[in-house]
Amino acid sequence: MQKKIAIIGGSGVYDLFKKAENISLKTPYGKVDNIVKAKHGNNEIYFLPRHGPKHSVPPHLINYRANIYALYKLGVKQIFATNAVGSIDLGINPGEFVVPDQIIDMTKSRQLTFFEGTASFSFDDKTKRDGVVHLDYTEPYCPNLRNIFVKAVEDIGEMVYTKGVHICSEGPRFETPAEIIMYQKLGGTVVGMTTVPESILARELKMCYATLCLITNYGAGMQEKVSHEEVVELFKQKTKQIKEIMKKIIATKAVPLDCKCKV
Ligand SMILES: [Zn+2]
Repeated sequence: MQKKIAIIGGSGVYDLFKKAENISLKTPYGKVDNIVKAKHGNNEIYFLPRHGPKHSVPPHLINYRANIYALYKLGVKQIFATNAVGSIDLGINPGEFVVPDQIIDMTKSRQLTFFEGTASFSFDDKTKRDGVVHLDYTEPYCPNLRNIFVKAVEDIGEMVYTKGVHICSEGPRFETPAEIIMYQKLGGTVVGMTTVPESILARELKMCYATLCLITNYGAGMQEKVSHEEVVELFKQKTKQIKEIMKKIIATKAVPLDCKCKV
């Protein structure tokens, strides 16, 4: 059976495929014109650089609804995301990976739902969603996709933490040391800027979603100051490993379509 998966993240993984096609899609939420479509056997793989092809859109201005809607329209059922995060646990170090299982939403100005009264969506399982929707979010990330991520990272011999609390801050600035102490007290493991509302919107449209966090730095005040250049540099250094992980993800057959996370 054909599968359609999407990878949301950095642009470093595009060249995994020699033959790729650029797709532009109009959505009720705005245009998305940077999706790359590739084939792997019978399967379709879509790459979506969430910050735009030139990394020009900051986290709080990303059109998350247009991005997720576009993937829904393309028939994508599973989304594998990657994001750069800061560690707020001194035992988890830059260069290591975390596959979080929980979220604390500290964002402030984002559109967190498709369902504002008038939207109506139909799904392959013949169900519909419209009006006001209150979804269960006990398990914010798909457990099946999380397992696939963990196995892929382990297979290439990299360090991966199989659980963690992902705190999503508004950005685009980094956190203050006082905020990092607060996040530690709240039980956070990593802090990033993009998993909310991406993971929420994917759940609303019945797509499995999980994210692979690459630790690029410690939180502010835990060691030296954080610079954006350092974050970018570490991400560059790890591009080879992320590509290897994505190759494993693309090749995996164990992606159940009737996943129980699609409440
Ligand atoms: Zn799932």
